[in-house]
Amino acid sequence: MTIKRILIANRGEIALRIHRAAREMGKETVAVHSTADADAMHVRLADHAVCIGPPPAALSYLNIANIIAAAEIAGCDAVHPGYGFLSENAQFAEIVEAHNLTWIGPKPEHIVTMGDKVMAKRTAGALGLPLVPGSDGAISDLDEAQRVAASIGYPVLVKAASGGGGRGMKVVEHPDALTTLIGQARSEAKAAFGDDTVYLEKYLANPRHIEFQVFGDGRGKAIHLGERDCSLQRRHQKVFEEAPSPALSAEERHRMGEICAEAMRRMQYRGAGTIEFLYENGEFFFIEMNTRLQVEHPVTEMITGIDLVREQIRIAEGEDLSCRQEDIRFEGHAIECRINAEDPFTFAPSPGQVTQYHAAGGMHVRVDSGLYAGYRIPPHYDSMIAKLIVYGRDRDRCIMRLRRALEEMAIGGVRTTIPLHQALLQEKDVLAGDYSIKWLERWLEQRATDGSSSPAR
Ligand code: ADP
Repeated sequence: MTIKRILIANRGEIALRIHRAAREMGKETVAVHSTADADAMHVRLADHAVCIGPPPAALSYLNIANIIAAAEIAGCDAVHPGYGFLSENAQFAEIVEAHNLTWIGPKPEHIVTMGDKVMAKRTAGALGLPLVPGSDGAISDLDEAQRVAASIGYPVLVKAASGGGGRGMKVVEHPDALTTLIGQARSEAKAAFGDDTVYLEKYLANPRHIEFQVFGDGRGKAIHLGERDCSLQRRHQKVFEEAPSPALSAEERHRMGEICAEAMRRMQYRGAGTIEFLYENGEFFFIEMNTRLQVEHPVTEMITGIDLVREQIRIAEGEDLSCRQEDIRFEGHAIECRINAEDPFTFAPSPGQVTQYHAAGGMHVRVDSGLYAGYRIPPHYDSMIAKLIVYGRDRDRCIMRLRRALEEMAIGGVRTTIPLHQALLQEKDVLAGDYSIKWLERWLEQRATDGSSSPAR
């Protein structure tokens, strides 16, 4: 079946990203927007635009009834959810399908399975993915929790089954604190997610975050597109991502990628997905699977030459995967810097009017952003305003080009995290690719206390 007109149920750079792939495939696009986004670039570029509500996301970008009504009024035949908002809402996917619209995403039952962390972990284990040692499912009684924690060894991590964005997690260093911290994790999880189910995991001291991009056709064929290293994080939010990971050998990439692809074949997974692992001492530990496109997908596009959104749309149309595993080549190196409208070191939000805008350019430089001079960044949404993605034949060349591109980016009127990226690219550990998920926060702490930027592991 051929999709003709896609409703893009998102905003900002990702709405634009989806629009671009759709237009290049000869398809029409319909933007939906809140009243705060009436002047946004994705609204200007889309073939049609429909206002779906006031600024708060709950009333607009999360308003299922208004989005479905917009799709019907505008004569759409498909919906692309982007990332965030409704992208991992299985009920939304079902409603889209019930309205005879094509859902450009995974099967709703897979969204449900992977959205519950206890179920996801059990499924991942059954599919042959290596797990973080921990409780077999939810923890119901405290004696059992003590036994499990003692057998995996302290420190342990209490995690919420419905958790997200790093919330509802507690590190337990000592058996005496276990009962109290499980209680706290439960009440926080109940308040944040309406579900107090928690489970236990071994707490890894200094891992890297390495994730594999996968694609399935929904009928048992699946491929992997290699990994991304997203270890530079602040408060569990990724800041800087690269592909390939400086820590993996080609042999490890191939072995782990194949394990991921095989898991997707057995699941008959459809569309794009990301399988996230912590990686420590040469071992991978599954933490979660995201059943959607990721913010950092362009680094994979840069090193494989495959347009992931195009691939998503093709699969939703019922086509076969556009390439076989053996045709995929990983060439060169790519890094993405997330540019936020924030103070670069305190991270205080800095929304407002962009007075000047010049995007970096030149060979192998890509800027995904809806910014333009005069644009007013609304305060209601995520602070990411641009992604700078740079490719180089090897990591060193990529870094040289990234420094050059960061110098060229000019965003006036608001503070941005460009200076943070420039400072990171002077750090010996970053240059060596020698960092764990703890590195950035330690570095920021050290910088705040002594004003220096000496390396911290
Ligand atoms: P969320 O869905 O809330 O983002 P994740 O399971 O993806 O939860 O974990 C978020 C982050 O928490 C990870 O990227 C990692 O930094 C940290 N983390 C998760 N599990 C562990 C663990 N077992 N040991 C150490 N850190 C962990």
